Amino acid sequence: MEPLVMKFGGTSVGSLERIRAVAERALQAQAEGVFPVLVVSAMSGETDRLLGLARSLGGAPDPAEVDVLAATGEQAAAALVALAIQRLGGKARSFLGGQLALRTDGPHGDARVKALDPRPLRRAIGRGEIPVIAGFQGVSAKGRVTTLGRGGSDTTAVAVAAALGARVCEIYTDVDGVYSGDPSQVPEARRLTAVGYDAMEILAKRGAKVLHARSVTLARRHGIELEVLSSFASTVKRGTRVGPARIADGNPGLAVACDKQFAHLLVDGVMVELRQSEVESFRRAVACKSAFAQPELAQVSLVGDAADSVLAAEVMAHLAREKLPVRRITAESGAITCWVDAHAALAVMRALHDRFVLPHS
Ligand code: ADP
Ligand code: ASP
Ligand code: MG
Repeated sequence: MEPLVMKFGGTSVGSLERIRAVAERALQAQAEGVFPVLVVSAMSGETDRLLGLARSLGGAPDPAEVDVLAATGEQAAAALVALAIQRLGGKARSFLGGQLALRTDGPHGDARVKALDPRPLRRAIGRGEIPVIAGFQGVSAKGRVTTLGRGGSDTTAVAVAAALGARVCEIYTDVDGVYSGDPSQVPEARRLTAVGYDAMEILAKRGAKVLHARSVTLARRHGIELEVLSSFASTVKRGTRVGPARIADGNPGLAVACDKQFAHLLVDGVMVELRQSEVESFRRAVACKSAFAQPELAQVSLVGDAADSVLAAEVMAHLAREKLPVRRITAESGAITCWVDAHAALAVMRALHDRFVLPHS
């Protein structure tokens, strides 16, 4: 009995209609002889709403209680999907992280999966039930509810696949695969048929939120192939496979990603680049009230095997020709990163995609 882990993200469970479509898809898979195991995110917008509620109470909210609150989004979605399957005549039951002994370590809000017990899932499958797992959540060594970081349900799905010994994990989302750039920002982006683990991990770390970076790391460690697919397509179409392949297999050899979550700080004449979420704790730690925040910063990255120092020089020359201002460029294996003011990020990303990605498609 090889189970198939199918993960559905926020937009894929964003309404009762979408939840019914997920239930139908799971039942169809079961009718075809597959043993589906579902992992779900919170309904789209729900995690932001919950985190906003915690913030609106003011002060610095206790991260442990924020996690208890944030985890309820996935709990509700899992129960609704299980109910929808039952309504269609199927058997299903929901599982929270704690009910699978999904142990984590690391900080609240960004915890890492250590282990989970697949036996309750196997028992449910044996009873003909479709397990529906609440993604994004686990339990710390102290017995507290934890969450895995934004987008972390992908990592829950891969951890479940690993614990069940599955070879494939399907990630259903609102796009039909991984593209050579975020298709909502770069309209000319091309869908990739396959991406290697390493390139995908770099893309995810550099802002391509289509997959949680740790899910890719975990998939590589366990030799699990990911497939990114649209939950909106009515006919079964294949998406993008993420596995040992190289990004260049039948694809443009490069892709772009953008991460806008950075800030510049000038502290006693020293320039510091930080994630925006870390600015306040940094200010407190250096006990410096007068740290001056510069414009918000973004990282625009060109990712792929060909991204080396020679290409970095071409990137610099091209952006200068296009009169696009860059603060700094770094080249390390597999990625060229341009630091730009956030308002220029989109133009830089499109310029890099036009010049360096499209010609190789
Ligand atoms: P889910 O809620 O299903 O987890 P996410 O919003 O986390 O979905 O991820 C899907 C989104 O990722 C897409 O809507 C797309 O805008 C964005 N994205 C960013 N980079 C890429 C890329 N290279 N390929 C595909 N999608 C991307
Ligand atoms: N609901 C969480 C988030 O919005 C986790 C996820 O969607 O994977 O980040
Ligand atoms: Mg996601």
